[in-house]
Amino acid sequence: MIDLHCHSNFSDGKSTPAELITKAIAARLKILALTDHDTTAGLVALHEAAKVSTLHIVNGIEVSAQWKKHDIHVIGLNIDPEASSIKALNCKQVESRISRAQQIAVCLASFGVTEAYQKARTLAGHAQVGRPHFAAVLINEGFVQNVPMAFKRYLARGKPAYVPTNWASIEEAVLSIHQAGGEAVLAHPVKYKLTRSKLYALIETFKAAGGIGMEVVSGMMTNEEVRAMADVSTRFELLASSGSDYHGEGMSLIPLGKQRPLPENCTPIWQHWQINNR
Ligand code: AMP
Ligand code: ZN
Ligand code: FE
Ligand code: FE
Repeated sequence: MIDLHCHSNFSDGKSTPAELITKAIAARLKILALTDHDTTAGLVALHEAAKVSTLHIVNGIEVSAQWKKHDIHVIGLNIDPEASSIKALNCKQVESRISRAQQIAVCLASFGVTEAYQKARTLAGHAQVGRPHFAAVLINEGFVQNVPMAFKRYLARGKPAYVPTNWASIEEAVLSIHQAGGEAVLAHPVKYKLTRSKLYALIETFKAAGGIGMEVVSGMMTNEEVRAMADVSTRFELLASSGSDYHGEGMSLIPLGKQRPLPENCTPIWQHWQINNR
């Protein structure tokens, strides 16, 4: 199995990179990509921990982007984490994240959640404060019982503590990935809940920017959704990617590497990669 999408505690995942490696070995994965939100900081520890195994590590990132009014995620695979384009993008996105987090905290304060920004930062342990950290604060403070509820009541788009963020455009996201030698993949297309024609418009934009792949399988999906996305990938001649979008026990419905297999009719993005453990 192959998992090209997961998160560590360098963004909003629960596991350390070393814990992800342990899980990847237990799941007998051949290839693992770490794709933290807007940061590559976990990759050093990931490589270090993977040294003891034959696991093939792919340097990845999940770039937050804005397209019309939608928050879209673009995965970069096989990027050089030291590339200046990636460093510059990370810097800009961290600033956007901090400013958004401060505004989310102001919104939450009006509901009686005190010092939400400080609390979210403490939970995160770093500046990469994401909405899941605010979800944890809302749970800890007894405002909601679980993460989906925190999004449904407060944090999701259209809810009172949703703050639009100054993310990169699709073009900027894809360009930075390219300039770092990577391949750009449209993440979890089903999650955006777009109409078919909107999804096609997004894919046209993504392809025009230089994107070459899409996640046909991502986290929890039905068989029908997987088949539909496989057809979309062939229709637009996009290479197919697959990942669990694992964030940790209790945060993800699918364990690391346990997402559904890719349908036969799509072309895996890893097909042309040089993998030394085959
Ligand atoms: P952020 O990058 O801070 O906007 O957070 C994005 C992360 O929030 C995603 O990777 C998901 O893990 C999580 N997320 C987004 N929407 C939801 C939702 N409706 N329910 C649960 N988790 C969500
Ligand atoms: Zn996440
Ligand atoms: Fe995502
Ligand atoms: Fe993700």
